[in-house]
Amino acid sequence: MNFENLRRRAGILILAATPPAIAGGGAITPDEAQQRLTDGNQRFSTGAATNPRCDEARRAETAEKGQNPFATVLTCSDSRVCAERIFDQGVGDVFTIRVAGNVSDTDEIGTIEYGVGHLHTPLLVVMGHSSCGAVGAV
Ligand SMILES: [Zn+2]
Repeated sequence: MNFENLRRRAGILILAATPPAIAGGGAITPDEAQQRLTDGNQRFSTGAATNPRCDEARRAETAEKGQNPFATVLTCSDSRVCAERIFDQGVGDVFTIRVAGNVSDTDEIGTIEYGVGHLHTPLLVVMGHSSCGAVGAV
């Protein structure tokens, strides 16, 4: 499933969260952050995922220097919608909040605020998906 299909069918809501001057993720713009996700999803959906920035050097870098994600993503806990895989991103690239049904209450909203306000991610994505068991159970 490509990003545009995800956006239409899974109910992705994308919000530019932070002005680029103070943004995380290496100070990229919200548009650049969205393009990185779109490009990663294109690789994933065509079977060309590269699993970037997941090697030992990247893990050591993020352990030593901290994280600098370029997007905050609220998504479902469903094992089929792992944001890092769907967007083909690496360690430290995406600040992900996962909860069944991708709903937000006090804890999730506080975690989103941490991603946007403390980590300065320039992009906030709320990603639902089709055939969500949690939504169906409700
Ligand atoms: Zn779900």
